[in-house]
Amino acid sequence: MNRICPSCFGLVKAKNADGPCDACRTLPANVKVNSNSNMFYRQEREDFLNSRRNDAVLFAYSGGLDSTVALSQLIEECKSRSITVIPFTIDYGFKGKETWKNISQVIDFLHQNDKYFVYDISSESVSILASPSAKNESMKVFDFYKSCVKEGVLPCGAMCNSIIDWAFQRILKNYNDEYLITGGDTPKRNTKGIYSIFWETHGFTVVRAGAAFGNTKNKNRQYILEHNIPWNDPGCGGYDTDCLLPGAVFYALVQGRAEHSLEETAASFPVLMEYFSERVRLGVIERNDALESLLHYDLPSLESIREIDELCGR
Ligand SMILES: [Zn+2]
Repeated sequence: MNRICPSCFGLVKAKNADGPCDACRTLPANVKVNSNSNMFYRQEREDFLNSRRNDAVLFAYSGGLDSTVALSQLIEECKSRSITVIPFTIDYGFKGKETWKNISQVIDFLHQNDKYFVYDISSESVSILASPSAKNESMKVFDFYKSCVKEGVLPCGAMCNSIIDWAFQRILKNYNDEYLITGGDTPKRNTKGIYSIFWETHGFTVVRAGAAFGNTKNKNRQYILEHNIPWNDPGCGGYDTDCLLPGAVFYALVQGRAEHSLEETAASFPVLMEYFSERVRLGVIERNDALESLLHYDLPSLESIREIDELCGR
């Protein structure tokens, strides 16, 4: 039986009887994004933006909470440096009506209509190595995501990343750039073992603006209210605020039951424990809020379920 780490929610092997998990024990000092003493991410951010004066930067706008706040902050920071922010959204067919409404309202509110674009990949054919049916086949992006819902497979992670990264690569090539800014909320540990806002991925570098601005989930919700940003929680569930897929798959897996014990969650959804423990450890989510989320699952609204059923022809 695994024990749960008293600092985060990481699972601890039984032989380590007391104390925190390995990840908490070996966490370097000052890596929390919400720590006031942490100037490292801020310095990385300043250096990056200063290197792009009088230039343009691409921002992958998902339409979710973190992404919306980061975009608003980035536009402010870029003004004084004469940097043009070019926000764009990748359309793969499953964002949902409420998210598109948020995107349209926010882009309008931030006066980005003249530069913003949608990159539609939903009817593109891609070769999906890890399709849920485990066939190495070429299929349309929309059909791939539809098959994930039908087969109850969460596409988040390697499968989804391979599709989205492929789209990012093409966009960056069009703009002759190798940096892409996202709303990413956690810093990433690089090959030197240092936590950084820069994440070198498939042929390009992601600049994780949520971490760069020291944002947390609570700060983000507060920011939306304080700045009167026309963004509403889309109610899509699945601990997500810009996509119908995780909520829909999750809803089917738990058969609509929201309440669970921590032991049940640890046994059935270790991926949830990992998601929250990483964010608690890095100061993005408060421990009590994470605990609440692990006991009471974020299920989609009836509207979201209806919409995904329609999209999947059910
Ligand atoms: Zn821990």
